[in-house]
Amino acid sequence: MDTSAAPIALPRRFAGWLGAWLDTLPGSEPRATCDDCAMCPRDPTAVAPGMGTYSPVTKCCTYVPVLSNFLVGDVLCDTASDAAAGRATLEARIRARVGVTPLGLTRSRRYELLYVQGRDGFGRAESMRCPHHLDDGRCGIWRHRESTCVTWFCKYERGALGYAFWRRVQDALLTVETALARHVVHALGLPPRTLAALFAPRPSSGVSAIDDADLDERVAPAAYAGLWGDWVDREFEFYRAASAVVDGLDAARVRALGGPELEIRLTLLTDAQSAMRSPHIPARVVTRPVSIVGHSGDAMQVVSYSPLDPLSVPRTLMDVLHRFDGRPTTEVLAALEAERGLRIAPGLVRKLVAFGVLAEVE
Ligand code: SF4
Ligand code: SF4
Repeated sequence: MDTSAAPIALPRRFAGWLGAWLDTLPGSEPRATCDDCAMCPRDPTAVAPGMGTYSPVTKCCTYVPVLSNFLVGDVLCDTASDAAAGRATLEARIRARVGVTPLGLTRSRRYELLYVQGRDGFGRAESMRCPHHLDDGRCGIWRHRESTCVTWFCKYERGALGYAFWRRVQDALLTVETALARHVVHALGLPPRTLAALFAPRPSSGVSAIDDADLDERVAPAAYAGLWGDWVDREFEFYRAASAVVDGLDAARVRALGGPELEIRLTLLTDAQSAMRSPHIPARVVTRPVSIVGHSGDAMQVVSYSPLDPLSVPRTLMDVLHRFDGRPTTEVLAALEAERGLRIAPGLVRKLVAFGVLAEVE
């Protein structure tokens, strides 16, 4: 992360919690230009083979978000006119009843199958498009999106270090989402019979077979009613109540509800944030395997930590990368300047390490 970057636009709850728990809010990822998607080039034929592109119809939203009950309520309670279209997509999802429980909205088993088996369609398969992705390319529930949608980017300012940082943010937020969804269910006093349906024991095999109803996304009325108890047909009211329950929690209380798991996640998150922001130039580095996926002018497009985020490296630098062989970095930089007149700023070494082109020798 460029530490001077403006804080990223987070859902209000996440901004409040992370603001209370971290020294600094996460910065934006300016190369993930979502309004003019960086993965949807205007001329796909100009893209080098090996550098993937996404469809402008889907962008990276070939994903159905799992929304905790209070986030569902947040969307329903957002009555701003610019939220109406997105709210309607959520209301349709609730009315369809597939994956709709007091804990929130989850994916259908059919979609899970597609998602796991169809990874190569990510970013392109229209059948996988998120129901909240509007035809004008916007996210209909942007102000209340969940942890995965908040933390996934195609490109990171600090390369692999940025990716690792955002995965830690996701872990922490997901822990909070899960804990608060359960807190809501408890706070709203669901009776034992409803809780038993909601927290049914897992099958001893660990998986239950996928049947015709799963594949056709049909919901058995009796099973659905069992999940909701007295709240059946009052799902909208329940989700709005969930939002109100979480409104009553300050950041300290939320943290306490996250328990030891959240403490561990926050420790790892803080550590990843320090690593990402550190100005440290490694004393010794070595080259790492990379793929060259294209070239333009005097630069080569190099893929290291992610095929979505190639790094443009000058040919003159590519030609001497092998000189970084574990000897002191200052010695290698001085030798390259003396022998070739090639001056490489230490900050560039730091960037090559962040992107996984070079690796620090421990
Ligand atoms: S994060 Fe998604 S929408 Fe944003 S630029 Fe990348 S692929 Fe496009
Ligand atoms: S909720 Fe929004 S950001 Fe997340 S996948 Fe759907 S459209 Fe994309």
